[in-house]
Amino acid sequence: MSHHWGYGKHNGPEHWYKYFPIANGERQSPVDIDTGAAKHDPSLKPLCVCYEQATSRRILNNGHSFNVEFDDSQDKAVLKGGPLDGTYRLIQFHFHWGSLDEQGSEHTVDKKKYSAELHLVHWNTKYPDFGKAVQQPDGLAVVGVFVKIGSAKPGLQKVIDALDSIKTKGKHADFTDFDPRGLLPESLDYWTYLGSLTTPPLLECVTWIVLKEPISVSTEQMKKFRHLSFSEEGEPEELMVENCRPTQPLKNRQIKASFK
Ligand SMILES: [Zn+2]
Repeated sequence: MSHHWGYGKHNGPEHWYKYFPIANGERQSPVDIDTGAAKHDPSLKPLCVCYEQATSRRILNNGHSFNVEFDDSQDKAVLKGGPLDGTYRLIQFHFHWGSLDEQGSEHTVDKKKYSAELHLVHWNTKYPDFGKAVQQPDGLAVVGVFVKIGSAKPGLQKVIDALDSIKTKGKHADFTDFDPRGLLPESLDYWTYLGSLTTPPLLECVTWIVLKEPISVSTEQMKKFRHLSFSEEGEPEELMVENCRPTQPLKNRQIKASFK
């Protein structure tokens, strides 16, 4: 598809429905998590984030965020348990963030916005590949981790240090031996619901697993995110900020909690 979407005034989230009518669908993301309405589901299993064999490959500025990509040709880094049936392979992670510390997350908790949100994206290995999986209602599982400002996250620093080399859209760099376990909080308590990709094509293929406990990053680390650029080298610079979709109607969905 050739149309251009982004986060600007003229091509941002308010306009996406013109090219992606599913933007107004029944299971869109992100959503506000009303903690009073989210029901504890004792049948939810503990989440298994099995990242011991994770093999990172590359970091890429795709003009919307930056992706750290993993080797997903085998069951190396996988997600199992929780609300999931079967095994989901980690393919990439990325973040969404704001121009200010007061905003930037996609999901909100009782309407509270965090400074950023990490998305670890996994695809269901009952399908042949990521491209096929996104066409299925149970194709992806995305772990969302809220980011607040506080002490630095040492496990993130290697990512931060790589951002200078991928400032503009289309740039990429080798990025090996990164351990994504360093990005997780202590607790794996979570909320879960059925939703969608939060960027076009907004496909309704995601089991969302949003962790209750945020991670903290330092002001300096957060500032480095905001130095990236939406634009290509040689184009007028447009700083990569506010690359987050607003919350969408919950409609006929229930958010479940893994904890009391
Ligand atoms: Zn995302």
